[in-house]
Amino acid sequence: MTQKCRNIAVLGSTGSIGRQTLDIIAEYPNLFKAWLLVARSSADLLIQQARACRPHMVIIADERYYEYVRDALEDTGIEVATGSAAIAQAVTAPEIDTVVTAMVGYSGLESTIAAIRAGKRIALANKETLVVAGELIDRLLQGSESVLYPVDSEHGAFYQCLVGERKEDIDKLLLTASGGPFRTMPKEQLSTVTAADALKHPNWSMGAKITIDSATMMNKGFEMIEARWLFGVMPDDIEILVHPQSIVHSMVAFKDGSVKAQLGLPDMHLPIRYALGLPDRRLASDCRKMTIDDFATLTFERPDFDKFPLLGTAYAAARTGGTAPCVMNAANEIAVAAFLKDKIKFTDIFKIIEKTMEQTPHVNHPGYNDYVATNAAARSIAEQLTAKN
Ligand code: MG
Repeated sequence: MTQKCRNIAVLGSTGSIGRQTLDIIAEYPNLFKAWLLVARSSADLLIQQARACRPHMVIIADERYYEYVRDALEDTGIEVATGSAAIAQAVTAPEIDTVVTAMVGYSGLESTIAAIRAGKRIALANKETLVVAGELIDRLLQGSESVLYPVDSEHGAFYQCLVGERKEDIDKLLLTASGGPFRTMPKEQLSTVTAADALKHPNWSMGAKITIDSATMMNKGFEMIEARWLFGVMPDDIEILVHPQSIVHSMVAFKDGSVKAQLGLPDMHLPIRYALGLPDRRLASDCRKMTIDDFATLTFERPDFDKFPLLGTAYAAARTGGTAPCVMNAANEIAVAAFLKDKIKFTDIFKIIEKTMEQTPHVNHPGYNDYVATNAAARSIAEQLTAKN
């Protein structure tokens, strides 16, 4: 059967997920074409990617690199633009079928909203979009032709476990976590760990920000909120389980007592391939397949909410709703950036987030402008707390 080639927009093409998405696009040249590439500031890699996959357009978000990128691609005929307004505009182009949102943090929100409004298929890798503004995204999706397919491995697992199932039959979503590099470290030692220690993730190779989020387990709190919106369940219907082997990517428990799990090697190419192939599992691959040796021993344990307090913070923020998760995300972005520069201790990340949440005014039922204002206010409070630290 011949299929139409889908034009893909890759937002965050130079990051870890973006690069792996381009691998998958290259693996199926008859099915996909990279039509738009967007990077924040990695100009040289963006130029290299543009020369290799010849998109219609590239955008370098940071305006300081615009002329450099434009001049480097002058002979190619590729359109070059800059700035966040250009991204929000470009994703609405009628030629684009699927938008892969793989930017880091809050910066993914505006363009994701624009893509939803334009009715695009969205392969969502930017989980912060749903953490910050899940309520608003949920409302927008209800009035739109747009569909959101998860790229996150855990949410890809939930999605696969739920194919053919009814939402009302779900008892619980069992969200698995590797536990990060400090899973077995005594709590008292956490204050002494460095950014270099935290960047050594045991199973997954990822960007710096998400690797720190994984070490604090903030990432798992974010994923709980992401799942809450993607699958329409309440926060307390999602249970986190530490599974250090990262082979079971997540499970769904049903009301009849059955539990379905999705397994695979810890390789982000798999969930990206699944998300790009939807609505079915059409993308066969000659990638390495899992064998019995990969899952001879699978273990599960309960997470330590005392050692990793951001898990509890995330549940509290999700139950409160409104702008609470937006504040948590903003404070986390500031605190993680400071920790990566060795300006604060690992455990200060917890304190800065908690204090920022106490000090930032709360808005119930926020609209887009409330998120923008709250994000700015929370970042400024978190910056002051970081500087005082
Ligand atoms: Mg994940």
